[in-house]
Amino acid sequence: MEDIIKRKISVLGSTGSIGTQTLECAAHLGLTVSAITGNRNVRLLEEQARRFRPGIVAVPGDAEAAELKTALADTPVRVLSGEGGLEEAAVAGDTVVTAIMGTAGLLPTMAAIKEKKRIALANKETLVCAGHIVMAAAREHGAEVIPVDSEHSAIFQSMAGGRKNEVKRILLTASGGPFFGMKREDMVDITPEQALKHPNWTMGAKITIDSATMMNKGLEVIEAMHLFSVTPEMIKVVVHRQSIIHSMVQFCDNTVIAQLGTPDMRTPIQYALTYPRRLPSLAAEPDFADIGGMTFFDPDLDAFPCLRLALETAGRTDAAPAVMNAANEVAVELFLRKKLSFPGIYDAVAQAVAALGAGSADTIEDTLARDAEAREFIRRRYD
Ligand code: NDP
Repeated sequence: MEDIIKRKISVLGSTGSIGTQTLECAAHLGLTVSAITGNRNVRLLEEQARRFRPGIVAVPGDAEAAELKTALADTPVRVLSGEGGLEEAAVAGDTVVTAIMGTAGLLPTMAAIKEKKRIALANKETLVCAGHIVMAAAREHGAEVIPVDSEHSAIFQSMAGGRKNEVKRILLTASGGPFFGMKREDMVDITPEQALKHPNWTMGAKITIDSATMMNKGLEVIEAMHLFSVTPEMIKVVVHRQSIIHSMVQFCDNTVIAQLGTPDMRTPIQYALTYPRRLPSLAAEPDFADIGGMTFFDPDLDAFPCLRLALETAGRTDAAPAVMNAANEVAVELFLRKKLSFPGIYDAVAQAVAALGAGSADTIEDTLARDAEAREFIRRRYD
């Protein structure tokens, strides 16, 4: 317990859904918060800075940084801005929770890996766009990458049930989102308000839309491939509506080991902070009589073509995953601004992958260039 309490954490994206829950865990565990970062929500950053007294508060934009400097002038907190500021924040503690949304999380994560920090990884887009490079860097520098995503935390824990070379399959569970059971032709008029209502989880807007299109599950397949060094063929998506089983690992003797719990992100967040120890958490106990039953289905890839596209893209070593990831980020933003229809998200992303996916993404610079091209491709056509 002592060693855990001494842990100092940086929280990248502290104003978001994962970020705020991470700070709840930090308060519960009595951890020191060394740095926090946000983007636009200056008011909440100020509140968090006053409560947790981090050494650093960082934001990408100069205008937000200037506002924060004025707001925090009576405190010793250093306010930083730009990419350099986020990277300094990322290495301020011994553990960094990467809860920034989207590709913006890539460079701060790389900075923390180079400094051998423990990476509590929520930002799946980092692994989708540059998984080979990020995981190779983590191995080279000896940085631990502990998953925060609930499915990947479950897989990580279930892996302990056997040896790596005994793993036959990863069974990645999916809630199916709010439109489970619907056909693609019935989804034309879906509004952002409807898509933002997830049945089991309360999350940031982008991941909630990704859950509705099931692109989120596709991104998670790619994330799992990199985290656990498995091929995409070894990962099977299973729709499990209740989100009680967070994912499973099937071993060569067909034994399946699963991790279960109430759907509460504070469980995997806390585990990434306390691993390999477990401590009492803020999450409620599961009540199995109350849950009553658990159901399982194969995903409907015709109704949810974003998942099909991601599965087809997963094994590619060119720029296709990075292009898909960036195009999806912009397409989701345009759907939320009502410039694209719900099925239009897939159409736009598939066009970008077809046009730009064959490019090279061998280095971080290449990857960021492909990412920028994909964003521009979608904006030019639809914004
Ligand atoms: P939110 O949208 O709630 O929060 C995103 C955070 O990132 C905010 O702090 C936001 O700042 C900051 N941010 C946004 N854009 C930028 C940028 N360009 N540069 C720097 N910071 C930025 O997202 P979530 O917390 O839901 O998700 C965060 C990550 O965790 C995502 O990668 C998601 O896939 C992953 N994840 C989330 C889960 C969840 O339950 N929410 C579950 C599993 C994974 P501000 O608010 O100040 O604008």
